[in-house]
Formats: sequence, structure tokens, C-alpha cells
Amino acid sequence: MLSFWEKEHFQSYDIGIVGAGIVGLSTAISIKEADKNLKVVILERGLLPTGASTKNAGFACVGSFTEIVDDLQHNSLDEVVGLMQMRYEGLAMLKGRLGEKNMDYQENGSHELLFGEAQVDLDIMAAVNEKTNAILGRKAFSVSHKKSVFGGGVKMLIENHLEGSLNTGLLMQSLINIALRLGVEIKTGYTVKSIKRTENGIHLVHSSLPLLVKKIAFCTNAFTSLILPDLIIAPGRGQVLVTKPLKKLSFQGIYHFDAGYYYFRNYKNRVIFGGGRSIDKAGEATTEFGINEKIQLDLKDKLARIILPNQAFEIDYYWSGIMAFGADKNPIVKKVGLHQFVAVKLGGMGIAIGSMVGAQLANMIIQDLNEDDLS
Ligand SMILES: Cc1cc2nc3c(=O)[nH]c(=O)nc-3n(C[C@H](O)[C@H](O)[C@H](O)COP(=O)(O)OP(=O)(O)OC[C@H]3O[C@@H](n4cnc5c(N)ncnc54)[C@H](O)[C@@H]3O)c2cc1C
Repeated sequence: MLSFWEKEHFQSYDIGIVGAGIVGLSTAISIKEADKNLKVVILERGLLPTGASTKNAGFACVGSFTEIVDDLQHNSLDEVVGLMQMRYEGLAMLKGRLGEKNMDYQENGSHELLFGEAQVDLDIMAAVNEKTNAILGRKAFSVSHKKSVFGGGVKMLIENHLEGSLNTGLLMQSLINIALRLGVEIKTGYTVKSIKRTENGIHLVHSSLPLLVKKIAFCTNAFTSLILPDLIIAPGRGQVLVTKPLKKLSFQGIYHFDAGYYYFRNYKNRVIFGGGRSIDKAGEATTEFGINEKIQLDLKDKLARIILPNQAFEIDYYWSGIMAFGADKNPIVKKVGLHQFVAVKLGGMGIAIGSMVGAQLANMIIQDLNEDDLS
């Protein structure tokens, strides 16, 4: 049973945020930046954030060239470049908030590997570059003259000048530190299973610590349908591996191939390599963490043939993270009921746009609180 003091101090908040990933933390930070007096609590089911934010490979991406060409089949040039702009500006916001050092941000560009018969549509490249130059002051792509050190029939490399790498763990630790410094409370090991709305606000039903909040925000990405079943979101698991430290590594920086479905980078003298969801989309449409053997074999094969040809290596271990997808690439940021909000479905773009999405959600919630005060 809760004490008088616990009931007085630890049960009521202005805003409850479910999920301590990039979006939940960014939302909490933006709310506190707007009004430091608001009492904000983040409720996270894991002891660590347990979705995508601590499980990705640390790529600051705006889109590889073949991904952009792919997107242009369904969207206009303005829409596609608009999404690149959102990702670029989202990354700028994240860097501004954390400082590049606190996420080990290295904007050294990235390279995409093209194989065999692949053709580069230089007209599309020029059209995209003209737009990014006008909007961002930089062209996005060029055909690289760097000599390939890769195997598997790499024909050429395309450089993306807008991308970079970061340290995912450092980034998340820094976001947590900022949130705590601003007075956000974070309760880990707290799963929100159901809520009840009464005239006092939203009650979070919980066996040991039921809470009352004025507003609730679900930043639960791929896991949202488990608690809000009306919101249909497709989970997409991503597989990643890391090698043991190598004696010699002939590349640095970040690389992609196959329209962004595969991505690899160095971390010191290790290789981090992820992707392959395209070969078993059905098997990876799950909210359960775990290893997919078919993809594991595929990654191992591509690591040996393409990334580290003629070089001995050992895989240290594999892990997985869960992303959220839908019919289009746009996140869902909206009010879903009285006092209830969501910011979910970040796809493979949450590092890039998570801060912006959090700011957007924070504005919505604060506006809603202000409207309550007026009524
Ligand atoms: C392998 C991989 C590679 C990626 N590569 C890139 C990339 O190159 N560039 C890029 O921009 N993005 C990339 N992403 C995507 C990016 O990591 C995500 O879009 C982003 O982290 C999503 O953040 P989020 O806060 O919305 O969700 P999450 O990080 O998934 O956070 C949701 C949180 O909610 C918690 N939660 C869920 N349900 C409940 C509940 N009922 N009660 C309490 N807590 C709950 C979960 O435990 C979790 O911590 C990648 C992701 C993966 C997995």
C-alpha cells in the first residue's frame, strides 16, 4: 500500500509519456524547455529503452541514392526531397540539442555500393542535387572516385554528402541526461497495460503504482497496437551483427547497398552490419526480439563476399531491434482521444526525425493544456 507521501509526490503528473525511446525523451525535453513547471513522467517497460532507439546501428541518414530513386516511383520529386530535408534538419536539431561530441557525430558523408549491371540515372541525380542545393545549400549525391576495397562485383560508389555516423549508446545516454537535468522523472520497468479516463484525467492502471496524469502521450512506436489496437502499425524487426576487432580494416565511415536495405560501418576496428529484412519481410513483421537464421546467414555471406573479401573475421554477436512501418513513410503524430496523443511509426528514420517529431508532439500537448485552462 502506498504511503501518504508517495501518494502526495509520486502519483500525479501533468503529462505522462509512455516509452523512453528517442521520441519519448525528445517530447519530454521539448515540454520542459517550453514550461519547466510542468510535471512530466516517462514510463518505460524495460530497464533500458527496449525498442529501436538503443538497437540501431548509429547511422545519421537522409536517404541513399537508390532509396531515393525507389521513392520517386511513388512520390513526386518535391515530396521525396521534402523528406530528405526533414531528415537533414531533424539531425541538425538533434546535434544542436546534444552537441556533436555528446553523440560522437561524424559528418563524413556515406557511400552506396552499386553492383554489376546497375545504372545510375544522372538526370535524377542532377534534379535531386539542384533541389537540395536550393533548400539545404549542398548537393546530396555525386559519383565517387574513391577506389572500392569491396568485393562481390561492386561497380561503383555513390557518395552522399549529407550523411554521417553517430554513437547510438552515447546519444541515448545524453538524451536521458538532459531529460533528468530538466526534471523529467523516468520510471523504468513500468509497463502501461491499460488506461481509464475519468473527469479527473487519465488513470494508468498498474498493480503497484497507479498514476493519474492530465495528458498521456504514447511514444511506443512498433508496440503501439498492443495498447491502442485501433492504430494499425506494422512492426519490422531489423537484424544487426558486430564483428570482433579486426587486425586491419580497409575502410572507415558508413555504407549502404540495395536501396538502404543493407548498411554497414566501422566502429573503431570492428564492422557493424545490418539489414536483410527485404529477404524475409513476413518473418520480420513481429514485435518479438530475436534472431532470424535466414537473414543471419545472408548477412554472414555478404560480410565475407562483399565487405571483408579475402579477410578472416569472427562475428562477435547478433542483435535485433524493432521498427514501425505503414503504407507511407510519414510518422503518425496526432491526438487520438480526449487527453491522449501518439507520436509513432518512425520507420527507419527515427534517429533523423525523432527530435522534430517530439517537438511537434510537445506543442500539441501544451496547446491542449492551455485550451483546458481557458475552458
Ligand atoms: C536495426 C535498426 C536500424 C536503424 N537504422 C536507422 C537509421 O539508419 N537512421 C534512422 O534515422 N533510424 C534508424 N532506425 C530507426 C530508429 O532507431 C527508430 O525510428 C527510432 O529509434 C524510433 O524511436 P521511438 O522512440 O519512436 O521508438 P522506440 O525506440 O522503439 O521506443 C519505444 C519505447 O516504448 C517502450 N514501450 C512500448 N510499449 C510500452 C508500454 N506499454 N509501456 C511502457 N513502455 C512501452 C519500449 O520499451 C521502447 O523503449 C533503425 C532501427 C533499427 C532497429
